[in-house]
Amino acid sequence: MSNRSLFIAGNWKMNKTATEAVEVLTALKENLQKFEGKLEIAVCPTFTSLDRAVQTVKGSNIKIGAQDISDKESGAFTGEISAQMLLDLGVEYVIIGHSERREYHNETDELISKKAKTALNAGLKPIVCIGETLEERESDKTFDVITKQVKGSLNGISSEEILKTTLAYEPVWAIGTGKTATPEQAQEVHQLIRKLLTEIYGEKTAEEVKIQYGGSVKPGNSAELMAKKDIDGALVGGASLKPDVFNDLISNAL
Ligand code: PEP
Repeated sequence: MSNRSLFIAGNWKMNKTATEAVEVLTALKENLQKFEGKLEIAVCPTFTSLDRAVQTVKGSNIKIGAQDISDKESGAFTGEISAQMLLDLGVEYVIIGHSERREYHNETDELISKKAKTALNAGLKPIVCIGETLEERESDKTFDVITKQVKGSLNGISSEEILKTTLAYEPVWAIGTGKTATPEQAQEVHQLIRKLLTEIYGEKTAEEVKIQYGGSVKPGNSAELMAKKDIDGALVGGASLKPDVFNDLISNAL
């Protein structure tokens, strides 16, 4: 049996100014202190808030993550942010391949695997997102899509590196829609992901990799989702923006 601990991360997307981020993180830091040692917690604000976010949570049990990264190390790439720049600020995690980046910025599995590799090379811990659209689910393609995304997005990632990587299964139809996958629907896909990881990395390594669920996770459903065998945490959008709600979501998940 594995000893995977829960990992719950908040994705703030394009919400909150740096001033607002400091306010919320100050409240969260106090609220979430009681969970010290019980799970891993991260918050991923927008790039402009990262510096102050890291300073605000210093000494607490909240880690800071970014929401994207360049696949390049440095150079003439206007508007891009490198792994080294994030690391220098004290950022620990980075979300890679979120469905909104796949959809609005045409990110492919190939680019996502390059970004993950770049993050890992620099010492950042990637949270790699995968998930099917409603159309793909309704036409019975979920397993094919997930298989292709897992293999493509993890291409070139070694056994050592996968242990520093978290996967986030986020059915696109459940993100920001209020529709959550049932715990059974989510577990079925998490089990498939664990099987694919076993094929690539072997059972011992696959058992150690954390797989988060994401898609309208809230205080009312975090317990039943986290109770499933292969669900090791959550990537939370809307419900991570308010300290009391995020606190209740975590509390119920434990
Ligand atoms: C997300 O953005 O990763 C997400 C899961 O959003 P929400 O919780 O709002 O559905």
